[in-house]
Amino acid sequence: MNYRKDKNGQDLSILGFGCMRFPRDSKETETMILKAVAEGVNYFDTAYIYPDSERVLGNILHKNGLREKIFIATKLPHQKCHQYEDFDLIFNEQKARLKTNYIDYYLIHNIGSIETWNDLKRMNIEKWLSLKKQSGEIRNIGFSFHGIQHEFPALLNAYNWEFCQIQYNYMNENYQAGTKGLKEANAKGLSIVIMEPLLGGKLANLPKKGADVLNSADIKPVEAALKWLWDKPEVTVVLSGMNSKEQVSENIKIASETSLLTIAQKKAILEVKKIFQSSYKIPCTGCNYCMPCPNRVNIPGGFASYNAYYANGLITGMQQYITSTSANDPENNSRISRCTGCKLCEQKCPQHIKIVKEIKNVKKRLEPFWFNTLMKIIAKVMSGKKN
Ligand code: SF4
Ligand code: SF4
Repeated sequence: MNYRKDKNGQDLSILGFGCMRFPRDSKETETMILKAVAEGVNYFDTAYIYPDSERVLGNILHKNGLREKIFIATKLPHQKCHQYEDFDLIFNEQKARLKTNYIDYYLIHNIGSIETWNDLKRMNIEKWLSLKKQSGEIRNIGFSFHGIQHEFPALLNAYNWEFCQIQYNYMNENYQAGTKGLKEANAKGLSIVIMEPLLGGKLANLPKKGADVLNSADIKPVEAALKWLWDKPEVTVVLSGMNSKEQVSENIKIASETSLLTIAQKKAILEVKKIFQSSYKIPCTGCNYCMPCPNRVNIPGGFASYNAYYANGLITGMQQYITSTSANDPENNSRISRCTGCKLCEQKCPQHIKIVKEIKNVKKRLEPFWFNTLMKIIAKVMSGKKN
């Protein structure tokens, strides 16, 4: 296993274990975790809202006496926090589930915009974080991000973060925080944890044409995607949501190699990107030149979700759309339905996309008549409110 130092000089395995989707069989989960730890993986990422993940992870670590050998990252679900006392209520529940007295890496989960952070500040989250840090119950403080690229710098500057977690892979260089955000976070001295390195599995299961291109450069799809990330010195840990023993073995093998991508392999990855992009319904490159929109519309996020809808189906497209536009947040969302048709964005698009026309198409597919009801239900569940 290879390691990289975090901001405070701690050695973290470059491969982190993403615990969002453990297998149903808890014995298999235990076997995978034991193997990962034995092979040197020391970073485990979970969250309050990942179904049963904290409890399962806590039980396995406790039963096998592994707590002190690894680092736990988990996240505060800020939507469930309505007052200062809620921070402690949730945190104490997390410690109980994880059977631990401290959390190594604690993230505010998916802050999409500075407004969300300001809401938390009004609840005195800074004081709470500082007290937890002083007591040693939280060792490192960070945030995860799925928002719009131009919101990212303001969040980086909003607090003295030690690390952040961003979605990033070779197809998302201009999406969400993107390469620009990666460099900004690095310039501020933060350790950077990467999620979605395989774009929800799509970069592991390439169309045949793409797989053939990589094959001719003597590299497999997962290896290409992971090494593309580890090629970047700004990256500290790459999370992989492993849910089989085979995946654990394959990822550990790649994370233990010292060879980097060859020039031919880098060229092959560029070729795969072009193959992906040629299948897009809207030829949006995610360059962000059209942003910011005066009405907060996440134009590239909406277009990327629409392309995902056509490439991978309704559920994938819808999931991506809800996440990238915080669609279930009644106030701070960036849904495409906020568009007033002013066309300011169209003058800035180098691809000459008829943005307003395409937004109407996106709205038809990704905000169907039942969408608002669904968002209200999700918002209610996330906030834990009964009414
Ligand atoms: S046309 Fe719509 S998306 Fe474009 S800038 Fe105006 S409001 Fe924003
Ligand atoms: S400027 Fe055009 S290509 Fe770039 S993100 Fe906006 S819509 Fe997409």
